[in-house]
Amino acid sequence: MHLDLLGNPSSGGNCYLVSDRRDTLMLDAGLAWSQDRDLGVDFSVPRLTTEQAETVQTVALTHSHEDHVGALPYILRQLPRGPRIVAGPVTAAIIRARLGEARIDVPVETVGPYEWAMTERFRFQMVPVPHSASESMALYIETPKKRLFYSGDLRGSDESGYGRLPAQSLRQYKSIDVLLLEAVRADVDEPDPTLADLKEGLLLALRRLAGRRVIVSAFASNLTRLQIVIELAQAVGRHCYVLGRSMRNAVEMAQEFERMPSHAWTIGPPPRDAADSKVLIMVAGAQGEPDAGLSRLIRGHYPVQARRGDGLIMSSTPIPGNEEPFWSLVEMAMRKGVEVITYRDYLVHISGHSTGQELQRVMKLIRPGWVIPFHGDYYRHAVMRELGARCGIPSERIVQAANGDRVLLDDKPRVIKGNGSVDYYQLAKGKQRSASRLSETVLDERARIRDAGLVVIRPGRNRLVTDCMDCRADVTAWVERHGRDIGSPDDLSLALKRRFRPPPAVVLLA
Ligand SMILES: [Zn+2]
Repeated sequence: MHLDLLGNPSSGGNCYLVSDRRDTLMLDAGLAWSQDRDLGVDFSVPRLTTEQAETVQTVALTHSHEDHVGALPYILRQLPRGPRIVAGPVTAAIIRARLGEARIDVPVETVGPYEWAMTERFRFQMVPVPHSASESMALYIETPKKRLFYSGDLRGSDESGYGRLPAQSLRQYKSIDVLLLEAVRADVDEPDPTLADLKEGLLLALRRLAGRRVIVSAFASNLTRLQIVIELAQAVGRHCYVLGRSMRNAVEMAQEFERMPSHAWTIGPPPRDAADSKVLIMVAGAQGEPDAGLSRLIRGHYPVQARRGDGLIMSSTPIPGNEEPFWSLVEMAMRKGVEVITYRDYLVHISGHSTGQELQRVMKLIRPGWVIPFHGDYYRHAVMRELGARCGIPSERIVQAANGDRVLLDDKPRVIKGNGSVDYYQLAKGKQRSASRLSETVLDERARIRDAGLVVIRPGRNRLVTDCMDCRADVTAWVERHGRDIGSPDDLSLALKRRFRPPPAVVLLA
């Protein structure tokens, strides 16, 4: 039996396949945002081989973050047979709504905490764990030959405000062969702040923005965070206005589960005559996702628009690999005259991922034979070897595999190097959740334009006229000398190909 790690080399795009003969269980179906902004790529999703796609029978989803479920609609299109989709109650409800929006008619089964689900050759149990989603499940998986534990995303601490780690239950699992363990913050050595510290940090931020209209952005799935923001807003005399579908659904759910003061918030934009100092707007998109509410509000593509003098609290930290969209959105807001507060200014976020010490706690409770770190980069996977050694797991038992690799789960796991393929997508302009796949040809041409420039040909009075855009100096000089002799765009293209490597692209304007 084997484990395939799909997706992208750095982070995001969590998607793993546990396979035994003809039965494959897919663990999560995530996407990764912004792989190559230069080429207009907004996100990428794992591409399965034919062999992989034909054997997937079940997809188990741990929680509703995009880097764990965002690729589901795109992956379903790759599977010849409709798989069973299984998730915990809250995640299942969120996924059903999203698939409905994408007009994909597939049932999603609910499996409650500690309930068992069966596939042809496996059975697995959902184990609730603390994380910055409204619900997060780890998976304990039994196969005919091996026992595996897939951590999903989790906090190994009990003070983060995300709930308690079910230490007692984890201790009870006997002889787990392989632990798949998230490594996003494996390199964080110091203890993390607590929920009380977070409340204090958010309050300091709100006080600093006194008098301004305030926008707060957080994960919509982080119900505890939304509850805290609403309570603090009330404490400083502000009323909350909840924008965007995901945030509205989340607040309504939080109202049901967390007993929030219902008079403290309203769905929809603030009234025109509301005093700025009394307004707090809540919107999703604190990772800088280009199609989320915050990004559209700052860019001005939203019913409410960011304006000079506003204050913005980014109640998040960028997940590794996502720094660029996060900081470019912060910069865009600042250029508009918005005062921005991030995790660097005040304690306005507590991560949903385990520190190094917490990962050790998880390893000590589960006592696995082998550990395969996932999520996070090569460096953090390497740190996991040290963490393992500190809690009695020799470093050779921490298996470092990259996405795209296959790990053969024999007595001693062996890594077969692979190169994971991904499909690249670009969001359609102005259309949320509508994206088109970029073919290899389009990406090659865009890369060529980026690297070698473009020669534009347009009709002049009596002859064709050429203009060079972003070409090398020698190309520009050559085109200036010979451009007037072109017979046709094809002739020019051919001549450039013969002379320059790489040749610039040629475009004929009508
Ligand atoms: Zn997550």
